[in-house]
Amino acid sequence: MEAAEIARPEIVTEPEVSLIAFTQFQKPEEIDWTTDTGIDGEKLIEFAGRMCYQSWGNPAGRSNADYIRNMLDHGHLSVIEHSVAGFCIEGVSRSLTHELIRHRHFSFSQVSQRYVSEDKARMVEPACIASDPEAHRIWEETAARAQEAYRDLYQILAERFAQVTDKTLKRKLARQAARSVLPNCTETKIVMTGNFRAWRHFIRMRANEHADVEIRALAVKICRILKDLSPAVFGDYQISELPDGTEVATPEFVYE
Ligand SMILES: Cc1cc2nc3c(=O)[nH]c(=O)nc-3n(C[C@H](O)[C@H](O)[C@H](O)COP(=O)(O)OP(=O)(O)OC[C@H]3O[C@@H](n4cnc5c(N)ncnc54)[C@H](O)[C@@H]3O)c2cc1C
Repeated sequence: MEAAEIARPEIVTEPEVSLIAFTQFQKPEEIDWTTDTGIDGEKLIEFAGRMCYQSWGNPAGRSNADYIRNMLDHGHLSVIEHSVAGFCIEGVSRSLTHELIRHRHFSFSQVSQRYVSEDKARMVEPACIASDPEAHRIWEETAARAQEAYRDLYQILAERFAQVTDKTLKRKLARQAARSVLPNCTETKIVMTGNFRAWRHFIRMRANEHADVEIRALAVKICRILKDLSPAVFGDYQISELPDGTEVATPEFVYE
């Protein structure tokens, strides 16, 4: 079949990130303590730290940001594990999520390729391919052909398993085999939840210039959101541009 006859997949070039969960803090009524941050995740960290020493008074009038900065500075990081953030991540490739799920302190829920059809899945195109017409042509044709093969294989396998009466099982048997021809650039969606210590580590490892550009773009986006959400915990990360125009995020504190 000529390439022109193959349906072209929709292309995505950037991770799409939505914050979907964040810590809520409720102080026990019997404890007489206040702090100056309005952010629950930051209140909780200070509360947990003060619990260790029962230091509910604050004669020096130290700010929450100062308190947390001191913890980061001393590597007292178990305390920041109490606060949690969760993201819905879309527009990323299966190769990205293969790297993502190596980070063991997070919880993940990812689209199932056995239950969900990839007939019309979007494909994630690396910027260095998108910006080169010949590379883009090769990439797009290859992705389109792979998706076409997936659709054809699904049809053949659905007939092969025609005797299976459970329709969901039949589709699953066909999809789980047909997906073997899908490329690494196939888009996936994943929910990722973790505590602030895990996020600090993830950002340091993946918003780094040595990381793959796609996961780096994701880590920098998440870093921006977390810096806004909790400046006391993530404010030391400086986001800067490399000569190639991509970004990195570098922390002041690197204890982990
Ligand atoms: C630039 C780059 C290149 C990479 N290349 C490769 C590669 O070629 N091949 C490959 O397989 N992987 C590769 N990785 C993945 C890497 O090896 C890690 O698996 C991944 O980054 C997860 O990070 P982490 O090991 O720090 O663990 P995380 O799971 O993020 O855990 C965070 C921290 O918790 C502690 N921890 C977690 N689990 C344990 C444990 N079981 N025992 C002791 N301490 C623990 C460690 O201090 C760890 O650093 C690469 C990563 C990067 C950033």
